[in-house]
Amino acid sequence: MSRAFNFSAGPAVLPLEVLEATRQAVFDFNGLGMSIMEMSHRSKEYDAVIKETQADCLKIMGLSADEYAVLFLGGGAHMQFYTVPFNFLRTKANYINTGVWATGALKEAKKLGNATEIASSKDANFNYIPKEYKVDDDADYLHITTNNTIYGTAWATDFDENVKIPVVADMSSDMFAVKRDYSRYDLIYAGAQKNIGPAGVTMVVIRKSFVEKRRDIVYPKMLDYKMHIEKESMLNTPPCLPIYVVGQTFKWILKNGLENIEANNRKKAAILYDCIDGSNGFYTPTVSNKEDRSLMNVTFQIKGGNDDLENKFVKEARARHNMANLKGHRDVGGLRASIYNACLNEWVEALTKFMEEFRKENI
Ligand SMILES: *Cc1c(COP(=O)(O)O)cnc(C)c1O
Repeated sequence: MSRAFNFSAGPAVLPLEVLEATRQAVFDFNGLGMSIMEMSHRSKEYDAVIKETQADCLKIMGLSADEYAVLFLGGGAHMQFYTVPFNFLRTKANYINTGVWATGALKEAKKLGNATEIASSKDANFNYIPKEYKVDDDADYLHITTNNTIYGTAWATDFDENVKIPVVADMSSDMFAVKRDYSRYDLIYAGAQKNIGPAGVTMVVIRKSFVEKRRDIVYPKMLDYKMHIEKESMLNTPPCLPIYVVGQTFKWILKNGLENIEANNRKKAAILYDCIDGSNGFYTPTVSNKEDRSLMNVTFQIKGGNDDLENKFVKEARARHNMANLKGHRDVGGLRASIYNACLNEWVEALTKFMEEFRKENI
């Protein structure tokens, strides 16, 4: 099989060895004569899969199982937009709005109570990360989105170290792309389909002492973090296969080392941004503040937004070099190369080579 150079924003590319292990498990899991899709989620074999995946997750994060719980839930990151305020919004919550997903999270919280936007970069179509914001000391939590998949911005640092209230982060598109100080967060959620697995499962890592601060929830139980923790993420049949794939990705991360993965991500992003910045204005970056640029989603335009040339670029990249999914999100336009953990360096090098070629032909 020849793999496309796949720059999809999500669902996105996975390591080849993860796909190979999954192929095996789909036909015959551990020589049991059964597919992983055909087994009881309560069997001891499957129990080992989910427990190991939870333990590996905490190992990568450097967190202890005494302090944090790991859940694998359905409903996507969208479900967490609602579940977070449903559990924790009592008096008020603070949100920093850095894009479509952050806006979506805020919108859901507003339906449930007093959620305020304490900073936003909407004034410039979300092309930067707000630096000035004041957190209310009496708010129940602060919500941020660490990487803005659509706009190509990211928080380079965790957040203002003076923040004393619990912090909730949507890390869907840069989960385990960089090493963060995870102990500074009280709840982290990530739809798996960007950087750690397939669609269908959302990872939630939650500080146990934070869970104790939740509202009394009697209904619906599926929105109650405490119930999910008590039932060890098996309040209902979990997404068994997606969790297995996430588990294999965690093993791949442990094998390679998160520091090395981060260093490699920085290298890939630098190659691409250097190509854009060094193109004499043929390619224009969407995010001009260098420290705000995403390592995962590189957004740019051709000649400041020439639709014809951008369409031609997308078509020729596919036809000549089997490079797929380079079109930008409809809200931003232009082009976007998503270069998640499993995107190989040689794909990025090939892309920049093509960008040079295309520039010379269309200058
Ligand atoms: C893709 C994405 C979402 C939406 O995820 P779903 O699983 O489709 O709900 C939310 N937040 C971020 C940062 C994303 O990249």
